[in-house]
Amino acid sequence: MRSQGILEKYASWIKLPDHAIPLSLNEGDTPLIPVPKLAKGLGGGFALYVKFEGANPTGSFKDRGMVAAVSEAVGSGATTLICASTGNTAASAAAYAARAGVKAVVLIPEGKVARGKLAAAAIYGAKIIQIDGSFDDALTLVREVATKLPVALVNSVNPYRLEGQKTAAFELCDELGRAPDLVCIPVGNAGNITAYHKGFVEYDAKKKTGVPTWIGVQAEGAAPLVLGKIVAKPETVATAIRIGNPARGKEALEVIAATKGKMLAASDAEILDAQKLLASEGIWVEPASAAPLAGLMKDIKAGCNLNGKTVVLVCTGNGLKDPDIVSLPDPVKVRPLFEEIRGLL
Ligand SMILES: *Cc1c(COP(=O)(O)O)cnc(C)c1O
Repeated sequence: MRSQGILEKYASWIKLPDHAIPLSLNEGDTPLIPVPKLAKGLGGGFALYVKFEGANPTGSFKDRGMVAAVSEAVGSGATTLICASTGNTAASAAAYAARAGVKAVVLIPEGKVARGKLAAAAIYGAKIIQIDGSFDDALTLVREVATKLPVALVNSVNPYRLEGQKTAAFELCDELGRAPDLVCIPVGNAGNITAYHKGFVEYDAKKKTGVPTWIGVQAEGAAPLVLGKIVAKPETVATAIRIGNPARGKEALEVIAATKGKMLAASDAEILDAQKLLASEGIWVEPASAAPLAGLMKDIKAGCNLNGKTVVLVCTGNGLKDPDIVSLPDPVKVRPLFEEIRGLL
């Protein structure tokens, strides 16, 4: 079958205004990878899958929401898009802006933005502005700019982002035949968990596919929804979720409550261990995307019962985005001779 982007594939489910000019980079349709070895290592008795969103065109799930938001924005006449970003939103906005032939301006926080994300924003032609402040400061600023200047805001406070992002829930139901029992997801600005839940609820209303329970996972140094208060200086190796005041935090907590789920915090060490475990299955994700596994492992340790359940880890972004987090061993150096290699095997 010819590959389609999400706006075409799920056209009847995505609410966009008539003025939208549909774009596509053939985003979505990402692999749902069974990881039985990993499930067994965690005690077994349940089916475990990775939804590998790093296979999207710019390497993260952001493409699903961005294609919808940019389609609406350019259809409404916008010639400049703006967003605050920890990196992946910037890369995605820049790519779809390039696709549509409009300008993208991205505001990034001071400090760590993963190299692969900045490189992407740069090569797609975005104007990159670093502010002397956090992601949350950057988001406040772009919201102000978008009300005062003729630019379109494409952060996940833009409702069309959620319309696109909810398609990942549709894909899970289409592939599994129904919704999973439990879904684990990293939570930064909390747009993604909000969008997935919306998708599951809408599908369930028409197709009776069910609605899963959620485990939302934040990083310990950036866990406002676990602590119940804003974190002024969020810190974590999982830079994509280094957010102290999530724009959709209230919605995320409502999703957790409505599905009898949990919001957990994982330490950087737990996140990096989970990243290695996923890699041991052949799946390289960026640190934020390993947080769901770290959270699931915590919940298993705490005695949760997964017997007979279907569990999905939403792995939001590709490991290639953040190569610097991987410590490289010094390669063994030898002369180019068969004997030298044989001696090493
Ligand atoms: C944006 C992002 C997140 C966080 O998603 P929210 O919608 O902000 O909660 C998690 N992981 C990756 C890789 C991201 O790019």
